[in-house]
Amino acid sequence: MKYISTRDKNIGFTSSQAIAKGISSEGGLFVPETIPTLSLEKISSLISLDYISRAKEILKLYLTDFTEEQLNYCVENAYKKGKFSSEKIAPTVNVYGNVNLLELWRGPTCAFKDMALQLLPYLLTVSAQKSCPDKEIVILVATSGDTGKAALEGFKDVPHTKILVFYPVDGVSPMQKLQMTTQEGENVSVCAIKGNFDDAQNGVKTIFTNKKIEEKFKENSLAFSSANSINWGRLVPQIVYYVSAYCDLVEQGSIKLGEKMNVTVPTGNFGNILAAYYAKEMGVPINKLICASNANNVLTDFINTGVYDKNRKFYMTASPSMDILISSNLERLLFLLSGMDDEIIRDLMNKLSTDGKYQVSDSVLSYLQKDFAAGCCDDEATKKTIKEIYEKYNYLCDTHTAVAVNVANSYIEKTGDKTPMVIASTANPYKFSKSVLSAVKDSITSTDEFSMVDELNEFTRVPVPEQLVSLKNKTPRFNNVTSKEDMPQVVMDMLGI
Ligand SMILES: *Cc1c(COP(=O)(O)O)cnc(C)c1O
Repeated sequence: MKYISTRDKNIGFTSSQAIAKGISSEGGLFVPETIPTLSLEKISSLISLDYISRAKEILKLYLTDFTEEQLNYCVENAYKKGKFSSEKIAPTVNVYGNVNLLELWRGPTCAFKDMALQLLPYLLTVSAQKSCPDKEIVILVATSGDTGKAALEGFKDVPHTKILVFYPVDGVSPMQKLQMTTQEGENVSVCAIKGNFDDAQNGVKTIFTNKKIEEKFKENSLAFSSANSINWGRLVPQIVYYVSAYCDLVEQGSIKLGEKMNVTVPTGNFGNILAAYYAKEMGVPINKLICASNANNVLTDFINTGVYDKNRKFYMTASPSMDILISSNLERLLFLLSGMDDEIIRDLMNKLSTDGKYQVSDSVLSYLQKDFAAGCCDDEATKKTIKEIYEKYNYLCDTHTAVAVNVANSYIEKTGDKTPMVIASTANPYKFSKSVLSAVKDSITSTDEFSMVDELNEFTRVPVPEQLVSLKNKTPRFNNVTSKEDMPQVVMDMLGI
């Protein structure tokens, strides 16, 4: 299987080259040139398997230049016993009616990013051994909160790698910030930037394509890669859990093999929902993909009108990991929907960077609306949803998941679509204790982060993950804040070049 770039389809890399590079040198994103298929028979054969075995079967269809031994090594280590708080790794839980939550936050950092970032370091080190064996890999990450911690945890002390994370100084929750600034490991670094996530992401993308920096890296036997969802190695592990969720629904008797499910995803950079789209295109019976946004509803407007316009107010919301106006992975979807036409993508992405705006053709819009629906809700509605789901069904969800639950409910109400629903549950509620506590409880007595965790725990009796409790006694190691212009310098300083 060859990987091509969304902005140059004549490029043909192996999967390990695509993963090691992260992003194509002309700024495009790597995609497989064809989407492998899963027959119902094949899906049926996955039902009796555990998560690790399901993952191996899916991943080998995409990572065709990995040997079986290499792939087994990667997958078995990523999801090995003890790393995830559920034996099922990503359990599908029926919460009410035919609505199911796919719990993707059972990993070491309590957010769904672990699903991919526990695996990526293994994929990347195997890939680097194949395509650039004598180089040290430098991972640059822009984070809206959860990716940063998950990437740090995944790459901590991995030989021949260094990792540097940039986060928006006021754009993450106190727990997310503490998770990152207290990170242990010899090869890690963390830096806040004055700006929002889009600034951090743009800064990283610019560093990747800066010719001068590239030269410096060559001289020092270094190579960049990315742990953001622009890296195919981040995206491909996410396809697995949608296939796995379908298998679970069949196994639990919620649907019969071949019947469809709907999927709702709380969306920011469009990586998670794109993985669901890949699962659908592979043959998993999925009816609609519902894209849920918070007040930063650029994607809702886009899916409903075909106009993508980032020239709008940026809101800091109670679901900070979705506070994004430029959703990078949309580029991959547009490439697929426009019949893999790299010229169209170059034109659209040009317009995005010059005007902050583009409109897709009628045919692309009609393909888009055939598979996708979209909705959004503000913080007030998000909190109302948390309260309602908690009081009615005794299930405590985080703010991001609540956005998706709200949008899924509105979709069901508006369309009358009775297809069983799977909602991606993307974080543990204790990562956002203040918002969740104020949603379920009328008056709050605590003022600091950890007393809020305690108060939420006393009120709901939902257990607090040990990883979050233990942060209380750790001292932050990384307190630096920089301007977005100085990001390249921060990289050089960290590497001492
Ligand atoms: C990253 C994140 C999202 C958004 O996922 P994308 O793949 O960027 O669309 C949603 N919820 C949480 C908790 C996240 O960490």
